[in-house]
Amino acid sequence: MKGICWLFPLGVLCLCSWQCHPLGPPDGGPDRWNQRYANPAAGATAPGGSVSAGGLLREVRLRSELVARGSHGRKVVRPMTPRYITIHSTENKDAGAARHALALKRGTLRSGKHPGGNRIGYLIWHFTVDDGVAIQHLPIGEQGEHADFDGPGNRYSIGIEMCEHRGNNWQATLDRSAKLTAYLMYRNHIPLRNVVPHYHWPRRGKHPPNKNCPHLLLDHGRPGAKWRAFLNRVDCHYRRIAATP
Ligand SMILES: [Zn+2]
Repeated sequence: MKGICWLFPLGVLCLCSWQCHPLGPPDGGPDRWNQRYANPAAGATAPGGSVSAGGLLREVRLRSELVARGSHGRKVVRPMTPRYITIHSTENKDAGAARHALALKRGTLRSGKHPGGNRIGYLIWHFTVDDGVAIQHLPIGEQGEHADFDGPGNRYSIGIEMCEHRGNNWQATLDRSAKLTAYLMYRNHIPLRNVVPHYHWPRRGKHPPNKNCPHLLLDHGRPGAKWRAFLNRVDCHYRRIAATP
């Protein structure tokens, strides 16, 4: 189904559509699905039409399991007005969102603290997403430790980790992550150009400085067709909200 694009408010029918695939490929498998998202002019034709912001959040199935204020990754609370969204993947074959939430709450994800490096001795980010749920660990008004030490990636971005454990449906994880990203863009007035891979933020003192993360969405360690397809998927869900009166 085609819609009137928000880019063309005078009512010109455009080739884009806010019909986004809610889950999984309708035909031809994941590669076919990614090809479709890589070429938005081809349109996305499966169900998943206009929705309110709250409705999109319900599709995300977000639950809150915040790390206790004053403990572990929230030992030091630094306010943040988010301007970017940084996408990661866990590179952890054993843990889904719930186990990551538990690890953060127990303070088991430590990192060496040193000047110019990790600022608090713990890793912490805002959301973890898998094929069934998204879990929030940190308020979006607080800085995390997930990107580039004392750089702008930590100081200004919301961090989202996508799970890649055994048995996890990667396409469903990607779609849930794209919906959460679209919702956060909408609520925090963050433009699509400020949705970036962890790769975007160089880490001082690391070799290479730009991490191959999220590795499943990079081509030869850099943003390419797979990353563009993900952004198109985010944009598709964002326009589902924007299309709602
Ligand atoms: Zn990362």
